[in-house]
Amino acid sequence: MTRITSTFVNIGERTNVTGSARFRKLISESQYDIALEIARQQVDGGAQILDVNMDEGLLNSEAEMSTYLNLIASEPDISRVPIMIDSSKWSVIEAGLKCLQGKSIVNSISLKEGKEQFLKQARLVRRYGAAMVVMAFDEQGQAETAERKYAICKRAYDILLKEIDFPPEDIIFDPNIFAVATGIDEHNDYARAFFEGTKLIKKNLPYAHVSGGVSNVSFAFRGNNVVREAMHACFLYHAIKAGLDMAIVNAGSLPVYQNIPEDLRERIEDVLLNRSNNATDRMLEIAERYRGSSGITKIIDHTWREQTVDKRLEHALVHGISDFVDIDVEEARKKYDQPIQVIEIPLMNGMNLVGDLFGAGKMFLPQVVKSARVMKKAVSILLPYIEKKKDAGRPGKGTILMATVNGDVHDIGKNIVGVVLQCNNYKVIDLGVMVPCAKILEVAVKEKVDIIGLSGLITPSLDEMVYVASEMQREKLELPLLIGGATTSKIHTAVKIDPTYNGPVVHVTDASRSVGVVQELLSSNRRFAYAKSIRAEYHSIAEKRYISRIDRNRITIDAARSNRSKFEWINYQPPKPTFEGIKVFDNYPLQELINRIDWHPFFATWELRGRFPDIIDDPVVGKTASSLWNDAKDMLKQIIDNEWARPRAVIGFWAAKAEMDDILLTTSDGEFVVHTLRQQIPRDSNRANLALSDYISPSGNDWLGGFAVTAGKEIQEKAKNFEEIGDVYNSILLKALADRLAEAFAERLHERVRREFWGYAPDEDLSNERLIAEDYRGIRPAPGYPACPDHTEKKTLFDLLDAEKQVGVNLTKSFAMWPASSVSGWYFSHPSARYFGLGKIERDQVEDYAQRKGMPTKSVERWLASSLAYDTEKMRSEV
Ligand code: SAH
Repeated sequence: MTRITSTFVNIGERTNVTGSARFRKLISESQYDIALEIARQQVDGGAQILDVNMDEGLLNSEAEMSTYLNLIASEPDISRVPIMIDSSKWSVIEAGLKCLQGKSIVNSISLKEGKEQFLKQARLVRRYGAAMVVMAFDEQGQAETAERKYAICKRAYDILLKEIDFPPEDIIFDPNIFAVATGIDEHNDYARAFFEGTKLIKKNLPYAHVSGGVSNVSFAFRGNNVVREAMHACFLYHAIKAGLDMAIVNAGSLPVYQNIPEDLRERIEDVLLNRSNNATDRMLEIAERYRGSSGITKIIDHTWREQTVDKRLEHALVHGISDFVDIDVEEARKKYDQPIQVIEIPLMNGMNLVGDLFGAGKMFLPQVVKSARVMKKAVSILLPYIEKKKDAGRPGKGTILMATVNGDVHDIGKNIVGVVLQCNNYKVIDLGVMVPCAKILEVAVKEKVDIIGLSGLITPSLDEMVYVASEMQREKLELPLLIGGATTSKIHTAVKIDPTYNGPVVHVTDASRSVGVVQELLSSNRRFAYAKSIRAEYHSIAEKRYISRIDRNRITIDAARSNRSKFEWINYQPPKPTFEGIKVFDNYPLQELINRIDWHPFFATWELRGRFPDIIDDPVVGKTASSLWNDAKDMLKQIIDNEWARPRAVIGFWAAKAEMDDILLTTSDGEFVVHTLRQQIPRDSNRANLALSDYISPSGNDWLGGFAVTAGKEIQEKAKNFEEIGDVYNSILLKALADRLAEAFAERLHERVRREFWGYAPDEDLSNERLIAEDYRGIRPAPGYPACPDHTEKKTLFDLLDAEKQVGVNLTKSFAMWPASSVSGWYFSHPSARYFGLGKIERDQVEDYAQRKGMPTKSVERWLASSLAYDTEKMRSEV
C-alpha cells in the first residue's frame, strides 16, 4: 500500500499568485529570476505538471502569463513538464496557450455560462491541441453532492464527445474539493461526495481523468501545517482509491499515509468519510495537540547510498546525515592503508566542499552545524584506531581561542562561530562562558593561539571586553582580537575597544563573516594591509561620532522633568491586582508555551533571514528553514515527552507611588525604591521627556508588577550532554529553543497577568501575531534594555521577587541571569505606557541618580557607559 501510485500525477501549486503570497510578491515586483526558481524547485521536488496562475486584480494577468511562460520555455529543466494554465479569465488562458509549445492543459472551463460559451472555449482548446480541466459547475452553480458532480460531468462529457468530437482522454474533470470540518453541518459530506463522485465519473465516463486542488479540503486548519498535510495525505489516499488521477498538491511536503500517527489518522478519516456526528469536534481537539509537532516522517530518498564510499561520506557531510556514518567510516577504514587517511582524504574533501558551498552562499548555518556533527562522529569512530600521534590528523590553518566574557552566560552565537571555523579547518579552543580575563590571557599564551574571539550578550559585557583588551595591551600581546555578540557594535568597538589595544581589533557579528575575517587576519601577505584598513575605518567612525556628539545638545535634567508626561491622574483609577506580593509557578505546562513562541528570532539565531512563516517557502533558504523548523518541532516534542525543561516563574505586584523619577513601593517586607532614568533629548511640548516613573500615579494608589521566568537549569544541562557527545547541532538547537520557551513564557504570563492576575483586560483575546507585536495595554520593560539601561536595578527586582530562592535564577557580577534562557522585567499597566529609548543623558542626571541610589557617581557612570554607547548608536540611525 503506497500513498501515491506510479500513475498518479502531482501538479505543483506554488506558482500561483492567489495561492502563494510570496509568488504574488515576486511577480508584482517583476522578480522573475526568483519566480523561476520557485518553478524549478517544484519540478525538483517531484511536480510532474506546473499549475501557473496570474489572477490578481492589480496584475496585468495576460501580460504576466505570457512573460512567465516564455521564461519557463527557455529553461529546459523546467519546461520538461507540462504547464497547466490556470485562470478564470479566458483572455489569460489564451495568452498562455499562445506561448506554449508542447501539450498544455487549460484550467479550467465549465458550463457555468451555458452550453454555447462552453463549446466555444472547448473548440479553441482543441485547436491548440491542449487538454483541459472541466469543473463540475453549471448554470445552477457548483456541484456539492456526488450525484450532481457526476451529472454535470456526464452532461459536459456527452456534449464534448457528440458535438465536437473532443478526445475524451484530454478531458480532466474537477469535481470540486471543498473545505470540511468548518463547523457548518452542510460541509460535513463534502469530501465523501468527492470520493463518490469520482468513482461515478471513472466508472461511467471512459478515458476521462479526474483532478482536484487538494489544499482546499483543509482550509479550516490554516496555520496548522502538520494537520493540513496529514489531511492532504489521507484525502489523496482515499481519492486515489476512488480513481483520482492527478491533483494540485505541494508534493514535497506530503507525509506518507502509513506514517501518520494512528489517532490523528483515524479522526481525519472520520471527517473525510463523514463517519460520525461529532467528527469535527474530535478533529479540532486533536488538531491542537498536533499543532507544531512534526512526528510524521517524510519520504526519504536513498539513492545516494549506491555511490562509492568516498562519495557517500561526502554526501553525508554535505547533507548532514549521521545515520550511516558508522558503516561508511568502517568501510573506508578498510579501504585505506591507515585510518588517519580517512580523515585526511574523504572527510577533509567533504569538509572543504562544505566550506566552499557555505562561502558561496549555497549552504546555510544549520546545515553547516549538522555537517560538523557528522564530522565529529566520524572522527570519534576513527580516533581509537589512530596511533597516539599529536593532533590526531586535523592539520589546522590556525588556532582561535573563543570565550564568553566574565559575567555573561550566553554562548549560542559563540558556539555557532566556533563550529563554522572548525568546518574551515581552524582549531578552536572554546573556554565556555563566564571566563575571567586572566584565564583568557593565560590560555592564549600557553597554547600560542593565533586569534582571541570574545563574545557577550548584555551591555556590561562591553565593558568587560574593554578590560580584556586593556589587559592584552598591558601584556604586550599583538594577536588579533575579534568582538562579537548581540550588544556589541562596530561603533562601540571603534570608540571603546580599538583605541585600547594596539593589535588588530575587528567586530564580527555574523558567523558567516567570521571565516573571511579570520582568513584575512592570518594571511601572511594581506594581514597588515587588512588590519590597517580596518583601523582606518574605525578611526573615522570614532571621529564622526565625536563630532556628532558635540553637535547634539541635551537639556538639563530639571528642564526634562518639567517636560515629563503629565497624565490626568485625577480622573484615573489605577487597576488593582488580584493579589499583593508574589506568586510562584513551578513546572509550568510546556504545551501552553509552544503556541506562544515567536519564531522570528529563532531563525535569526541561525542567520536565516526572512519573516516567519513565509521563510518556510522562501526560494533561497526555505528548504533549510523548513528542515530546521521540523527539527525544532521534533525537539520540542522530546522536551515535553522527556521532561527536559522545567519552566519556573515568579510574578509580583506591589503598591506603588511615583515620586518624580523614582517609584516608591510599599511591601510587607518594607519599602523599596525603583530608580528610573529620564530622556534628556530636546523635545517640544507635543512630546514629553519620558521616564518609566511617568506611568505610575503620584497619588499613591497605583501598582507596579514584576516577573522573572526561566526555562530552567535542566534544559541547559541537557544541552551540555549533547555537547559532550559531540552533537553540536542538537546542543545549539536546544539552547535556541530554551531561549524561545523563556520568551514565550514571558509572553504567556504577561497575557495571564492582564487577563487574570492584574485583571485589567479580562476580555482580551489576541492571536499570537498580535501578542508578538505587543498590541495590548501595558508593557514589561526589562532592566538593561533601552528604556531602563541600568542593569543594576535588576537587583531590586530580584529582591522583591525573591527570585533566586523561588525560581533558582541568579545574577552574575554583570547582572546577567543564570541559568541562561531567563527573562525578567517590570509590569506597567497604564494605557499610555510605551517602550522608548532613553538616549544619551547628561552628567547632571548621572550625579542625581547616583545620589538617589546611594552609589558613587563613578560607579554609576561605569554601569551606564556601555549602554549609552549602544543607545546613542541606535538613535543616530533613527535621525
Ligand atoms: N517576541 C520577542 C520578545 C522579546 S523582545 C521574543 O520572543 O524574543 C521584547 C521585549 O524586550 C519586551 O517585552 C521588553 O521586555 C523588552 N524591551 C523591548 N524594548 C524595550 C525598551 N525600550 N525598554 C525596555 N525593555 C524593552
